[in-house]
Amino acid sequence: MLRIAVVGSGPSGVYTAQTLVQQREVPGVRVDVLDRLPAPYGLVRYGVAPDHEKIKSLQGSLRSVLEDERIRFLGNVEVGGELLPTRRLLELYHAVVYCVGAARDRLLGIPGEELAGVHSATAFVSWYSGHPDAVGEVFALPGADRAVVIGAGNVAVDVTRILARGRTELAPTDMPQRALGALADSGVRRVSMVARRGPSQARFTTKELRELGTLPGVDAVVDGAEAALDPAYTDPAAAAALPAVARRNLEVLRGWAQRGPGDGPRRIDLRFYLRPVEVLGGPDGRVRAVRFERTAPDGRGGVTGTGAYEDIGARLVLRSVGYLGVPLAGLPFDPVRGTVPHAGGRVVRAGRASVGEYVAGWIKRGPTGVIGTNRPCAKETASSLLQDAGALTRRELPGDPLEALRAAGLRPVEWPGWTAIEAAEAALGRSLGRGSVKIPDWQGLLTAAGHSGA
Ligand code: NAP
Repeated sequence: MLRIAVVGSGPSGVYTAQTLVQQREVPGVRVDVLDRLPAPYGLVRYGVAPDHEKIKSLQGSLRSVLEDERIRFLGNVEVGGELLPTRRLLELYHAVVYCVGAARDRLLGIPGEELAGVHSATAFVSWYSGHPDAVGEVFALPGADRAVVIGAGNVAVDVTRILARGRTELAPTDMPQRALGALADSGVRRVSMVARRGPSQARFTTKELRELGTLPGVDAVVDGAEAALDPAYTDPAAAAALPAVARRNLEVLRGWAQRGPGDGPRRIDLRFYLRPVEVLGGPDGRVRAVRFERTAPDGRGGVTGTGAYEDIGARLVLRSVGYLGVPLAGLPFDPVRGTVPHAGGRVVRAGRASVGEYVAGWIKRGPTGVIGTNRPCAKETASSLLQDAGALTRRELPGDPLEALRAAGLRPVEWPGWTAIEAAEAALGRSLGRGSVKIPDWQGLLTAAGHSGA
């Protein structure tokens, strides 16, 4: 038997487990999928926007993988901490695949970033997604009539859309009740989503962009003159040289610019060629505006500063400038890329590929791509691991790792514990007159999982 631990039950972890058990070259593969949280699915549960039901429904296919009899889900198991250092995990399994994602947010590195009212989009997403580490987060939404979102990726689009949506659209989601109340009663009327480069360099995808123009009671507004600083916005030949997604984005933005602002009660401004230089505070110590320097295209896809500045008023600022991997004690780490160095998925230590330790997903390749990108990524890692199977199985293991985890003081949540959480969330939703509603705190999750005295 080849016994493998996959650390992380998000898409990359689940796809890795699936590839490992469904292949035919190496028989007798058994996989434990460990997660720090009591609940599985990683960013599909705690990152995909709650109003994106179609993407959320991917949980169904991840679930059928985790229900495979050759795979065991063990939640509430923190790897890399005192109870379970990474070297101990390697003693318990023939191989370990780290699929731990990229949990940290990037900072802007500008003055005023620490002011009250300035948050990372990651923290905001975690809060409205019911991540148990974010239960204490407080967002002063009623006092914030204007919000600024810095960045032009799909996460920026997600948080902009969630800020602009009303109660009717948010209530059917599985958002925790407190977050729903805060967002539904929010005073936010205007959200500016601000990019430092032009429309053709924006990182969001067209479906996500287009959706901003379809929100009830919300006007999506583009200043045609500002967008036209981008040569491809007006020059069809320059546009033709762009990737298809950028061309389609330009079409959507042109349509909005021609339509002009409407009279909806809420408004989303898409702003371009503005780079943040300072967050300005008010007398109450909270953010009152963000100062941007206007930029100009440099002809090579980048921008240069122009020395002209613009302040955009905001009582809430979300920086959405990408995720960053977090080092895991005992694993090598490249702090610049925020990833674990690897060769074909094998962790590289001191310049040599280590047999027995592997990575897949964002911790391997950085925080890019859509959920499906994790499939080929997981396949590459799984195939490296399977090539090493002969060497890996020469070592005898001490026995069932679950016993060793319990002996170390861990209290894993197994699959029936997770399904009990699901049932408790469905019951919570029913009691609130909603569909399934997430339990947002550690104690609530562990109690629902049947851990007495949690
Ligand atoms: P992202 O796509 O890398 O976008 C980051 C944005 O931040 C870029 O617009 C970038 O601008 C900007 N930025 C970086 N540093 C900046 C700075 N110092 N000042 C101002 N702007 C700065 O990251 P993301 O939005 O976090 O998304 C991560 C991944 O998850 C992406 O692959 C995304 O597609 C995926 N995702 C997908 C969905 C979906 O499919 N619905 C939803 C959410 C996330 P520059 O380009 O100028 O660097």
